[in-house]
Amino acid sequence: MKQQNYLDNLVGVFGHPVAENPGVVIQEAAFADLGLERWHFLTIDVGPDDLGDAIKGLKAFKMRGINCTIPHKIEVLKFLDAVAPSARIIGAVNTIVNDGGKLTGHNTDGQGFMIALQGAGVDPKGKKVVVLGAGGASRAICVELALAGAAKLTVVNVPRDQALADGLMRTLRENTRVEALYVPWEGKLTVPAGTDILVNATSIGLYPNVNDKPNIDYDSIGKGTYVQDVIPNPAFTPFLREADQRGLRWQSGLQMLINQAALNIVMWTGKQPNKEVMRQALEKALA
Ligand code: NDP
Repeated sequence: MKQQNYLDNLVGVFGHPVAENPGVVIQEAAFADLGLERWHFLTIDVGPDDLGDAIKGLKAFKMRGINCTIPHKIEVLKFLDAVAPSARIIGAVNTIVNDGGKLTGHNTDGQGFMIALQGAGVDPKGKKVVVLGAGGASRAICVELALAGAAKLTVVNVPRDQALADGLMRTLRENTRVEALYVPWEGKLTVPAGTDILVNATSIGLYPNVNDKPNIDYDSIGKGTYVQDVIPNPAFTPFLREADQRGLRWQSGLQMLINQAALNIVMWTGKQPNKEVMRQALEKALA
C-alpha cells in the first residue's frame, strides 16, 4: 500500500481589513500549477490587538510563513527572530518565513518592484528617480532603488505628513549613498528635467477611486522618462494613460504584485512558480 501524507502546508496573510486581498488567488494558482496539492493560502483577518496571538497560532500550526499587510507591517517586527537587511532598513516586513519556529522577516514589496523594473529592461544604477508618495510602498521602493545604485532620489509628498518624508530622508541618508531630496507636493507638480524614472507610489488611482490621478503637469515629463505605477487594481490607471498618450514607456503595478508573490513562493516552497499562470489568475479575478 502506498504511504499517504495528508498533512497540510499552510501559508497566508494577516491583515485588517484583508477580505479584498487577492493573494490567495495568485498563490493558489501557482500551487496548483506546481502540483503542490496540500499547500493552502489562508486569508486571515487579524485585528491590531491580536497580532501577538496570531503569531503564536502561526507557530502552533507550524505554518510555513505569512504575509503581513495593513496594519501589521511595522508592528510585526517585534515578534521576529531575524530580519533581512533591506527589510531592516525599510523598517517594515511583509513576508515571514518560519524555519522550524525561527521567524525571519523580509520585505518583498521593494524587491518585487525591482524585478518588475529589470523585466522592463530598466537599470536604476546611476539614474535620477522621482517617487511620488512617502508611505510604506514608497519606503520599500526607495530603499531598494538606493541600494541598487540610483544616483538621485527625489521624493514628492504632500506636506500634511512631514514626519513620513523626514523619516524616509533620514533612512536613505544614513543607510545608502543616494542623493536624497524631499520636495513638498503643493499644487501641480512639475517633473524635474532629466528624470529617468518616475514612480507613482501613492494610493492615487486604486479601486474604487479609479478616475483619480496624481496632480502632475504631465507635459513636463521628459520624452525619455520611464513611468512605473504601483497600483495593481486597476492595472491601467489614469496616471499610466497620461504616460501612454505621450508615447512614454510604462508598466503597471500588476507585475510588481506578481513578482513579490512569486518571491514569497520561492521562500516558502523552494520552487519557482510560473508567473504567467499567476498573472492570468489575478487578471481573471480582477476582471
Ligand atoms: P500608505 O498609506 O502607506 O502611503 C500612501 C502614500 O500616498 C502616502 O504618502 C500618502 O500621503 C500618499 N497619497 C495618498 N493620497 C494622496 C493624494 N491625493 N495626493 C498626494 N498623495 C497622496 O500606502 P502604501 O504605501 O502601503 O500603499 C500605496 C499604494 O501602493 C497602494 O495603492 C497599494 O495598493 C500599492 N501597493 C502595491 C504593491 C504591488 O505589489 N503592486 C505592493 C504594495 C503596495 P499622505 O500620507 O499625506 O496621505
